Amino acid sequence: MKLKSFKKLIKKIFNFVLDAIIPKRCIGCNIFDTWLCDSCHTTLPLLTEQKCGICKKVITPLGETCPNCQKNTAVNGIFVISSYNNELLKHLIHNFKYKFIEELSEPLGLLIAQGLTNSHLLSPDLIVPIPLHNRRLRWRGFNQADLLANSIGLTIPINSTCLVRQKYTTSQVKVKSKKKRLSNLKGAFVIQHPEKIKDKSILLVDDIVTTGSTINECAKILKNAGAKEVSAIVLTRE
Ligand SMILES: [Zn+2]
Ligand SMILES: [Zn+2]
Repeated sequence: MKLKSFKKLIKKIFNFVLDAIIPKRCIGCNIFDTWLCDSCHTTLPLLTEQKCGICKKVITPLGETCPNCQKNTAVNGIFVISSYNNELLKHLIHNFKYKFIEELSEPLGLLIAQGLTNSHLLSPDLIVPIPLHNRRLRWRGFNQADLLANSIGLTIPINSTCLVRQKYTTSQVKVKSKKKRLSNLKGAFVIQHPEKIKDKSILLVDDIVTTGSTINECAKILKNAGAKEVSAIVLTRE
């Protein structure tokens, strides 16, 4: 048996045992056998108005960067799906990322898909999940952005290997000054196989945008390597 399928088997057994000890319950209403029931899922709000992802003031139809902010960023736009004021959404993201409930990527991916319907967001050539550093990936066991990207159900190719996080950085939320945030991210990402992104319009996927500096850094690196456009889609903005 290959190591990968062995790991999968172990995970399956582990989940089976876990389900027996701690049965699944809806994070919204506590009913059994699901992490999120359909009726709780329908209560998750979809944002009806998008704003420039940099100044967060100017209203733009698809979260495009406003003309004023364009000179300060490499990001063409940030489309935000849902509101961070929603307690259920916050709980879901917390359980997904810090209680390692991988299966939550499905209802959350569905929410992104619902937000994208009727959005008229132009179809990108390539979807790129914001990568995790290997150390964090080992700790969590999965990259939440990667799982989300795969759960949206779009037919657009997903590339999880062209953008690599090579530097382990402290969480951007904890770094208070803007200057420090930028130096914290310096050299954090590198591009592998630049031919795969050359002249492509790319959609980055992440769970939460906080300051936007990570998305900006990724956009900068991707554009320097030849990407035509880089926008992002996120579940919510903190
Ligand atoms: Zn429920
Ligand atoms: Zn702006």
